[in-house]
Amino acid sequence: MRKRWLESLHIFTCNLYIFFFVCFLIGCSSFSRSELWAGDKPSHHTENAFQNYPLIEPPDAQGFRFIWNKIVSSSKSDKIPADHLIDKKRAIDRYRKLENEDTVTWIGQSTALLKINGKVILTDPFFAKRAGPGTFGPSRSVPPGITAGDLPAVNIIVISHNHYDHLDADFVESLPNKKNIDVVVPLGIGEFFRNKDYIKIHELDWHHSVTVKGLKFTSHPMVHYSSRGLFDKNKTLWCSWSILSSNKKLFFAGDTAFSPTIFKEIGTEIDGFDYALLPIGTYGNRKYGFNNHMNPMESFQAGLDLKAQTMIAIHWGTIDLSEEPLFEPAKLFKKVAMEKQFDPKRLWILKIGDTRVLE
Ligand SMILES: [Zn+2]
Ligand SMILES: [Zn+2]
Repeated sequence: MRKRWLESLHIFTCNLYIFFFVCFLIGCSSFSRSELWAGDKPSHHTENAFQNYPLIEPPDAQGFRFIWNKIVSSSKSDKIPADHLIDKKRAIDRYRKLENEDTVTWIGQSTALLKINGKVILTDPFFAKRAGPGTFGPSRSVPPGITAGDLPAVNIIVISHNHYDHLDADFVESLPNKKNIDVVVPLGIGEFFRNKDYIKIHELDWHHSVTVKGLKFTSHPMVHYSSRGLFDKNKTLWCSWSILSSNKKLFFAGDTAFSPTIFKEIGTEIDGFDYALLPIGTYGNRKYGFNNHMNPMESFQAGLDLKAQTMIAIHWGTIDLSEEPLFEPAKLFKKVAMEKQFDPKRLWILKIGDTRVLE
């Protein structure tokens, strides 16, 4: 037992060293953002970075206690419920069977494969074993519903922010046909894709829109932050997206805390959504002072504020990044929907790998 504990500590220490070293390198290579704006800055732009607006100051984080608890709890693993994940072959068969429909497939975390008007859109790709640089970072608990190699040809990649569980560098690097893939990203993330030889990059500030392959993407605020190293906090922007086709309105948020105003404003601006993909996990770290994610009750309220006909749960049950039990968020999401008498057919808790038709 003691040996196992010491091994864990040793691995953690090595990882921490590598992490700081990698972060140092990443921090040194941070680029100047001054060329990205001109004239008066919007309120969410600071001198050299970005901030939430309306400004939400997180309480002081108790970082050491958080890291220590992560070491102690690193041996725990929640048992994956039998009905949480569908078999990979079945996942691919089901996707192919519905190939001529508009569909959503949940790959895990905030990675969703959307098929709209014949276009394949991938949100926040995360296929890696770990969410972190190199060998550092927590391991995923559940494998991707469809492996990167089995994906259909991707037409559009949409990114909400640059955290490792939302932007997988190896996956982005590995995709074939990069020059034909449109990439829709918040301000500052274009460089990441340019460095990997993508050329069709649409880099948007909040409240800006672009039409790509007949679909209109609009960047909306969300309440979060960005970083991939120790010295690049908030140097790139974070956002949620509306995706509008000729007959459907979708909302996608990768990671966000709750806001009593932002979701209402988006719901009013777009006049409601047919579908909203809403993050429901990673709320358990609030006791350490981190408040960057919604709990399931807040996610449900956000869905109501957005005037979403159907709410689709994402960002849960994939990787243990937080103190709540890994499979708790969906239970609470269902519970609050039932209490509020929301039509259960309009609350989608997809299995990882499952595909559903967007009617
Ligand atoms: Zn995040
Ligand atoms: Zn996340």
